[in-house]
Amino acid sequence: MTKRIDTLVKGWYVVTMNKTRDIIRDGAVAIRGNKIVEVGKASVLEAKYEAAETLGGDRFVVTPGLVNTHIHITGEPLTRGYVPDDTPFEENVFQWLCPLYSVYTAEEERLSAQLSSVEMLKSGTTTFLEAGTIRCIDEVVDGLDEVGIRGRVGKWVWDLPPEPDIYKQNTDAAIANINDTIERCTDVADGRISAWSMLVGHTTASDPLWRAAREAADHHGVGLNFHMSPAKLDPEGFIAEFGQRPMIHLNELGVLSDDTSMTHCVHVDDNELDVMAHAGCSVAHCPTTALKVAYGVTQIGKIPEMVMRGINVSIGIDGNNASNYADMYRATYLVAGLFKDARMDAQMFPAEKAYEMATLGGARTMLMEDEIGSLEAGKFADVVVHDTDRPEWRPLLNVMNQLVWSADGRGVHTVFVGGAKIVDAGRMTTIDEQILWSQSQAAGEAITQRSGLPDKSKYPII
Ligand SMILES: [Zn+2]
Repeated sequence: MTKRIDTLVKGWYVVTMNKTRDIIRDGAVAIRGNKIVEVGKASVLEAKYEAAETLGGDRFVVTPGLVNTHIHITGEPLTRGYVPDDTPFEENVFQWLCPLYSVYTAEEERLSAQLSSVEMLKSGTTTFLEAGTIRCIDEVVDGLDEVGIRGRVGKWVWDLPPEPDIYKQNTDAAIANINDTIERCTDVADGRISAWSMLVGHTTASDPLWRAAREAADHHGVGLNFHMSPAKLDPEGFIAEFGQRPMIHLNELGVLSDDTSMTHCVHVDDNELDVMAHAGCSVAHCPTTALKVAYGVTQIGKIPEMVMRGINVSIGIDGNNASNYADMYRATYLVAGLFKDARMDAQMFPAEKAYEMATLGGARTMLMEDEIGSLEAGKFADVVVHDTDRPEWRPLLNVMNQLVWSADGRGVHTVFVGGAKIVDAGRMTTIDEQILWSQSQAAGEAITQRSGLPDKSKYPII
């Protein structure tokens, strides 16, 4: 007696990322509704199930969807590449990014979120953690729902910086913003989209706001997410204000816990690592931003030490003027490579460890370890099918080396999010790509013009 399922996805190899890290040759993934029913040998599953649709086959590698644990889906996708790549950190943030973010309309934020999520999906990312810099949350959530990605989002919340006007909020308004956002974004789109307690972070929040963000996370049972210590500005600011480094101060406030995701954490000392490990925090390592904005991650970063202390490290992409792409495969490649060279030690990090950070590490950061990050029965059917009939995939002799060192998002063929086929043979099924490209171009030109910021292209356009 065969059992009915919706989809059977077959692969030359199925990379499961299960507990024993099995890679199944001539494998398959059985999907019913939004969940994985079984993963095993294709011959076994074909005999056992009657699938409404069977796809994949001999030339495909099947993997879990990647988890991007830090990305700005508004503000930057539609101004990608406009900020010169030789601007120092402070100038980058305050003279370029803040003004660009502040001139987006609600409709442009929606479009930006769609462009960003389409780029993620088409390169094999099925879940993301947004950076907490959305202004028009309802429009953005609506846009994400239409595209079909899975994610956790948050509004732009801070109470200390005086500028720009559009983001100005006092402490009470900031606290209300956090709670209101979580309440209005509870389980949108069958639970694919919801909100977390998020702060911009750095030195932009008062102690009462930090405490309120923690209370909101506890009260609503969601995660807590913020930026911290990409550059020495943050530790210097905390030391000047409190006589303590950031992690020490935040820990004393009760902010840090095992539901807490912090982005960057480049300028941290060993005492801070102890506190982070003890609290059980996760760190979103954004290698591309570190390289482009000159954080010094390979000089002073302690990512290997975090991993050795058992701190969960996942991978993020960040904003499109710091990391001008959203392809997690390219970021995972950097994670595998940067510290090999910096420490002159090939063990930092093996391809398998880097890939684990991009999948299971991301799932842990997002508090979704039981739901995503691997291909196992009972988890959401977030499945990516890679086409190996491509030059960078051949010859295929070692799947994990190929995934991390050779392949990238270009080979992604078909993508499922919660059992729904969102990318089919390289094309989006949920929205019209041609319209997205032309609207994005028009919006990018309009936003940069409205910002009044100069075009700093160095070569003459003739
Ligand atoms: Zn960021």
